[in-house]
Amino acid sequence: MENATEHVQCLIIGSGPAGYTAAIYAARADMKPVMYQGMQPGGQLTITTEVENFPGYPDGAQGPQMMEDFKAQAERFGTDIRWGVASKVDFSVSPKRVWIDEKTEITADTVIISTGASAKWLGLPSEERLNGFGVSACAVCDGFFFKGQDVAIVGAGDTACEEATYLSKLCNKVTMIVRREEMRASKAMQHRVLNNPKITVLFNSETEEILGDKGVTGARIKNTKENTTQDITVTGFFVAIGHDPNSGIFKGQLVLHDNGYINTVAGTTRTSIAGVFAAGDVQDYTYRQAVTAAGSGCMAALDAERWLTEQE
Ligand code: NDP
Repeated sequence: MENATEHVQCLIIGSGPAGYTAAIYAARADMKPVMYQGMQPGGQLTITTEVENFPGYPDGAQGPQMMEDFKAQAERFGTDIRWGVASKVDFSVSPKRVWIDEKTEITADTVIISTGASAKWLGLPSEERLNGFGVSACAVCDGFFFKGQDVAIVGAGDTACEEATYLSKLCNKVTMIVRREEMRASKAMQHRVLNNPKITVLFNSETEEILGDKGVTGARIKNTKENTTQDITVTGFFVAIGHDPNSGIFKGQLVLHDNGYINTVAGTTRTSIAGVFAAGDVQDYTYRQAVTAAGSGCMAALDAERWLTEQE
């Protein structure tokens, strides 16, 4: 049973590149940040393997190790990093109230939300088994490993089109698997894909299974209109069927976009509530890169520090 409520100057919720970068800046500014790591400490990079596009690592780095390094840097300046998941918030009062694991209550002068987003998956056992071994939800992160090879990508939104186009520049052939008779993506994006000689689009198609033992060797695709099944040979299988921002507990507390991402004031990390800031993928459905998340984490700490100074 918890009793006295703890008060902190700066509470950071979530521990991906955005959260840790916010922590480094907040700690160095003597805001004594307390971070709750959330459901997946280290965030999405902990489920990738090699990260080659983060500047400053000329030989690349392993995602999990990179997040350990982020954490060590945040701890070095005194960030108090704790296990725990924020389960409820009340931003209608000042200081803000946040409950951890449904029991511990914390009050905070400033809150930085960096809870990230989670890629959606098809939900196939073979997809889970081969995740990281040819199955990926990020073409920009992992496309390079399939240079000159044949790959497949599932999805029909702007992300899938953009990633198929990206992959077509690296790979030999890209097969796009679209579940309906048409795509959801904007006309311009569709046009680009349909006119790209390296991309073949299979409409009315669902993935039954991703094939391969230790790595992807192909995929079994069902044409739902003709009721036929074919195996395609690919070494990479990309899933681009959308992301879900981890913003559920902020619904009704902050203004969210229609797609669930937290709305921030353009060019800042300010949310609809003064003193509450959002950084990283929970507020960014466009760039979604580790380096852009880290950049916005830095912005959030600076915005929070300025806001605190204005209150004095
Ligand atoms: P979307 O939600 O727009 O699209 C998801 C796609 O995945 C849909 O085509 C959907 O099919 C398909 N899908 C969902 N579940 C499954 C499944 N189980 N099996 C097969 N296919 C499935 O997500 P995006 O990530 O593409 O885009 C998110 C937002 O970001 C959008 O607003 C988009 O416009 C924006 N965006 C903009 C870009 C730009 O302007 N440059 C670039 C990237 C994203 P169905 O259509 O049948 O529902």
